[in-house]
Amino acid sequence: MAEFDLIDLLAARCAASRADVVLGIGDDGAILAPPPGEHLVVVTDTLVAGVHFPLSTAPFDLGWKALAVNLSDLAAMGATPLWASLALTLPEPSRVFVQGFADGFATLASRHGVALIGGDTTRGPLAVTVTLHGAVPPGQALRRDGARAGDAVYVTGSLGDAAAALQGLLDPAAGEVDARLRTRLDRPEPRVEAGLALRGAASACIDISDGLVADLGHVARRSGVAIEIEVDALPASPALFEALPDRVPRRAAQAAGGDDYELAFTLDPAHELAVRARDGGLGVTWTRIGRVVEGEGVRVIDRHGHDVVLPRAGWEHFA
Ligand code: ADP
Ligand code: MG
Repeated sequence: MAEFDLIDLLAARCAASRADVVLGIGDDGAILAPPPGEHLVVVTDTLVAGVHFPLSTAPFDLGWKALAVNLSDLAAMGATPLWASLALTLPEPSRVFVQGFADGFATLASRHGVALIGGDTTRGPLAVTVTLHGAVPPGQALRRDGARAGDAVYVTGSLGDAAAALQGLLDPAAGEVDARLRTRLDRPEPRVEAGLALRGAASACIDISDGLVADLGHVARRSGVAIEIEVDALPASPALFEALPDRVPRRAAQAAGGDDYELAFTLDPAHELAVRARDGGLGVTWTRIGRVVEGEGVRVIDRHGHDVVLPRAGWEHFA
């Protein structure tokens, strides 16, 4: 399949029309009309085969996930998604692959009103880079540096499912991986609605890609505070309890596993009820998991206040 057929195929499936796309795929650059009076938020994430996704990942799921991880970053900023650009590196230009990929990408893109406005296509080891643009009213973005002592810490959804799935895939003795867990790994649901609802309420926010403790470490550092996490408060799905019945590996998956794409945020606890009472809430369950205190770093504690030692502190490239 020629490069231009491949681009046409992507364009046909993903270039959903938006009135603010003045000129989309097909020229040397896209022309876009940013929402008047708003700030642009720009995020980029790369997925490399064998590093960020197992080689067994279906093309549909790869297309979904490449967009999902970027939508998750925009969600963590409290931004409304607008436009995506896609740099695709393929070992060979396969029509079957590109069709599946485009369908996965387009399914999630249409849910969130994202238009594909351009990109680049090259030959090489399989890798996908998406750059996503979003918009936020001035001063309303959710940042990492606003957490204050006295705030409570919350997380959306549940933690550890994707890590448990990955662990199962990497362990030849583990047998079939639970489909519910595999879906959390392959098709994360970016918490875009929650991010928008947290504008003007959360004092800080981050999405969990590298593991709860590692990612909250960024919030603590940027905010100049310490964070205490109560390990028994971490939300777990029924599938996670079944896959990891022993609490040590289960806690490790929840606190340090990564690939969750949930939002962790801080909020003055006096505002919790008001946020819960809002129409639609955050569009997903959310759980109080800890508190912001003076100091530095992230502590994971049990209900007696004792430190809990976890096997691994999150995923870091080049570590
Ligand atoms: P140029 O050589 O001028 O950089 P290309 O031939 O690479 O242009 O791309 C032609 C058009 O197709 C451009 O509008 C570009 O943004 C778009 N395009 C190329 N690859 C992709 C892709 N993977 N996804 C979406 N659009 C793409
Ligand atoms: Mg050109």
